[in-house]
Amino acid sequence: TISDRLKRVASYLPAGSHFADIGSDHAYLPCFVCQHDEKAKAIAGEVVEGPYKSARATVKVYQLHDVIDVRLGDGLSIIEKDEVKQIVIAGMGGKLITSILQQGNDKLESVERLIIQPNVDAKAVRNWTYHHGYKIVQEEIVEENGHFYEIIVADKGETNRKLSEQEIMFGPLLLANKSSAFYHKWKSEQRKIQFVMNQLELASVPQTEKLARFNNELSWVKEVLQDEG
Ligand code: SAM
Repeated sequence: TISDRLKRVASYLPAGSHFADIGSDHAYLPCFVCQHDEKAKAIAGEVVEGPYKSARATVKVYQLHDVIDVRLGDGLSIIEKDEVKQIVIAGMGGKLITSILQQGNDKLESVERLIIQPNVDAKAVRNWTYHHGYKIVQEEIVEENGHFYEIIVADKGETNRKLSEQEIMFGPLLLANKSSAFYHKWKSEQRKIQFVMNQLELASVPQTEKLARFNNELSWVKEVLQDEG
């Protein structure tokens, strides 16, 4: 039942992890981790009643209630200070993810690693980590069913350097070591940006500012795609 995407996300948890999976839905990820690692312990958080019940049901089926605690509530409010060392937030937009991190900032003191998989707006996540004492230590693009999912792993307390705007957009490590998924993703993004720009050019009210912004993005995308062999 667990997707390759979630397996890849799970692979960034260290052995014997004590982690929270925020927005856990069916709790597939914590169940997968705790089935394979008997020292791991997890908290599955859900803000919506339906997914919360699904999560409880999955944990029951796998008989993992001793090691996985399912809690109903918003974002990081469901964890106590010092309760977890890693936090996973996957399958949401980057802006929602950063607002969850921002609102739960006081819970992050004990958190050594963030494993984030934004569906869109990875930029927002990279910006947030950089400004809150986390350093991006690993990044990956997973291609699944025609979608591209970025995984960002950030560790606390490592010396950080300022990222350029391009690094924020493409990912510092993804950019430094371009994979075939990277080229696939950004070719697809290039087509999307071009489509949006065509639409904006047809608008009855001039969209000069937006067009300029997309044009800038488009030129960066073209630049990073240039060296594809
Ligand atoms: N993490 C799983 C994955 O990657 O497959 C599930 C992703 S699902 C698309 C997003 C889940 O996040 C939904 O079940 C939703 O109820 C939950 N969610 C959204 N905002 C949340 C918040 N502020 N706190 C906790 N859960 C939230």
